[in-house]
Amino acid sequence: MIFDDVFKSLVENTNDVIMVMDSTSLDDGGPLIVYVNPAFEKLMGYSSDEVMGKNPSILQGSDTDKDTRLKIREAMSSGNRIRTQILNYTKTEQAVWLDINIVPIKNKQGKVTYFAAIERDLTEHKMLESRLEMLASTDMLTGLPNRLATMNKAAKEFTRAKRYNRPLSMVMIDVDHFKLINDKHGHLVGDHVLKEVGKICSATLRDSDVLGRIGGEEFILLLPDTPKANAEQVAERMRSRLASATIKHGEIELTITASFGVTSFTPDDGTPEEMIERADTAMYAAKNGGRNQVQTAA
Ligand code: GH3
Ligand code: MG
Ligand code: MG
Repeated sequence: MIFDDVFKSLVENTNDVIMVMDSTSLDDGGPLIVYVNPAFEKLMGYSSDEVMGKNPSILQGSDTDKDTRLKIREAMSSGNRIRTQILNYTKTEQAVWLDINIVPIKNKQGKVTYFAAIERDLTEHKMLESRLEMLASTDMLTGLPNRLATMNKAAKEFTRAKRYNRPLSMVMIDVDHFKLINDKHGHLVGDHVLKEVGKICSATLRDSDVLGRIGGEEFILLLPDTPKANAEQVAERMRSRLASATIKHGEIELTITASFGVTSFTPDDGTPEEMIERADTAMYAAKNGGRNQVQTAA
């Protein structure tokens, strides 16, 4: 065919990865690779000879999504085309995210004889995506989850508590007379204090607990699977650690306290906001009670 050379040249010069697999071997250890282009060799680090006759699953690894693998397998078995994203690994075990488009190729009798995979490297895009996600959910001062991320997590834990009738507690934390620190020592010292508060409060938590900064000097602690009495103990421990800590910044040495409001999920709660409001009310009771204390919502 007049275009044979043209097509060959296109396939060999494109930056996209192209892989052709034999469909007839599908039930016999296949599909098996019958062609890869130079872009494949360059990206994946394998020479054409090294992958010839092999199953593309050699490119997958422990973090390759099982459902995606199954979805690809099913599409191939039914002779359908599929487009998805998949994590593959190069010869030197580098993770590569690929946008993958698999097309069945039929012979004159209409039988699928090959699958052509056209793949594009998405690794940089994925890295940027996860960096953006991180930026959108992190409080840049303390490194803790920000308000949005904390509220999302609270909603998620609330749904879980309601659905499975699991305990869930929340602690609202507000630094006492924080404005005075800013007024006396300046905003930079205030910022440093907030960072230290985040560190001190995070120090004794379990992996499943979430401490988030939801406002200026306000934090929420989410305690999944934790009944009220245990949450009170956690809050009391935090209160005492904060109150006994000396926070240093250059020559300056400071002590701080905070007020704590504890509440726990009840089956009557309709939204996470109801819990947050109760924790807030309890925290204000702690302020009114003289600060540096833990109060529990009724
Ligand atoms: P209370 O004991 O009643 O909680 O008194 P407070 O002074 O802690 O409370 P108030 O809400 O009056 O003041 C909070 C202050 O926190 C006011 C604001 O300037 C300061 N603030 C808010 N965000 C930041 C921040 O990111 N950095 C610094 N340094 N200060 C902040
Ligand atoms: Mg406040
Ligand atoms: Mg305050």
